[in-house]
Amino acid sequence: MKELIRKRILVTGGAGFLGSHLCERLVMQGHDVLCVDNFYTGSKRNVAHLLDNANFELMRHDVTFPLYVEVDEIYNLACPASPVHYQHDPVQTTKTSVHGAINMLGLAKRVRAKLLQASTSEVYGDARSHPQTEDYWGHVNPIGPRSCYDEGKRCAETLCMDYLRQHGLDVRIVRIFNTFGPRMHPRDGRVISNFVMQALAGEPLTVYGDGSQTRCFCYVDDLIDGLMRMMACATPPTGPVNMGNPEEISMLDTARRVIAQAGSKSTIAFAPLPVDDPCRRCPSIERARTLLGWTPHTSLDAGLDATIAYFRRLVANRADAANMQAERVPAPAAGF
Ligand code: NAD
Ligand code: UDP
Ligand code: UDP
Repeated sequence: MKELIRKRILVTGGAGFLGSHLCERLVMQGHDVLCVDNFYTGSKRNVAHLLDNANFELMRHDVTFPLYVEVDEIYNLACPASPVHYQHDPVQTTKTSVHGAINMLGLAKRVRAKLLQASTSEVYGDARSHPQTEDYWGHVNPIGPRSCYDEGKRCAETLCMDYLRQHGLDVRIVRIFNTFGPRMHPRDGRVISNFVMQALAGEPLTVYGDGSQTRCFCYVDDLIDGLMRMMACATPPTGPVNMGNPEEISMLDTARRVIAQAGSKSTIAFAPLPVDDPCRRCPSIERARTLLGWTPHTSLDAGLDATIAYFRRLVANRADAANMQAERVPAPAAGF
């Protein structure tokens, strides 16, 4: 790649589910990628295939501590994303979102790098407005078990906007809605990984509550395409941009779809609904569509096929499965 367009890009949380796909795409484009991760929920295995590439570098580092490197762009993805994971050590979750954002924004300010903040649909909380548009301020419980994540991410957005207004930083905020695909951790407790692993094992699929709550599931390749468009955009929107697949589905129907697509004989078992679990969630993606020309292309069925195939391979490979069992995956928090 010509030196003029080849960039030095920092991806925090680069060994996680989304981060590893992003690193892969950036390396494939010929950029120099620095992947920073403390391996709290991510794994070296997710980026093992990139380690021999001269354009890729992996650094163990916790973003709650300062980081002095020279880069042109920063994707700030470091933060556990599964409710089970982020509630395991809620104080560390808030520190990662808030101190992590301060450090990455401070770094961006020093080297005048562009920064993309991975925010979340959780900033809308248990939304009272539907579908969620970016100008909706949200309905978040500030003291509940989810608030370490919700409020941490909201504060990170505040910091991004204040560095923009106060220091003229080039920041871009993407509010990511539920995304799934290969390299999700099989035991991360999120609904798609849980359902697929249960369906493959022939165990009952655990639907929380009565399963009427809804989510929208975006396939990972579509989301990564959106993040890269947002970073590349010459005249980015000043505020946040939603990214997700607007096809809304209940958790009960999701369970039925997974069972059918996996060709499984599993049944469905109902379990208590976690505290503050949002009832309905669906993104309005008009802003991403008009400003970035972005829209997701992968249907839920196609995405599930690829994800089921990935987990099937994982289960078949006993050595990998044993390693993953041994990994430090936080135990479910109280209430789960
Ligand atoms: P993930 O848990 O697979 O990845 C997060 C990565 O961050 C892991 O590799 C983890 O080890 C690393 N990390 C955590 N704390 C860290 C710290 N203090 N310092 C350095 N690294 C740290 O989750 P994901 O699904 O890949 O999510 C990535 C980002 O996208 C997160 O910021 C998350 O909030 C956001 N997001 C994801 C989704 C989704 O559905 N996947 C939805 C909304 C927002
Ligand atoms: N920081 C960093 N890398 C840098 C520059 C700054 O990690 O290259 C961190 C540093 O810890 C600092 C934070 O970013 O506390 C915020 O930086 P800023 O310049 O905004 O504020 P200050 O240094 O005045 O606290
Ligand atoms: N859920 C479920 N069974 C599971 C895991 C999750 O029914 O085994 C539900 C959960 O209660 C929520 C939805 O699926 O309503 C999505 O949960 P997830 O943890 O994947 O993400 P969230 O959108 O809640 O952050």
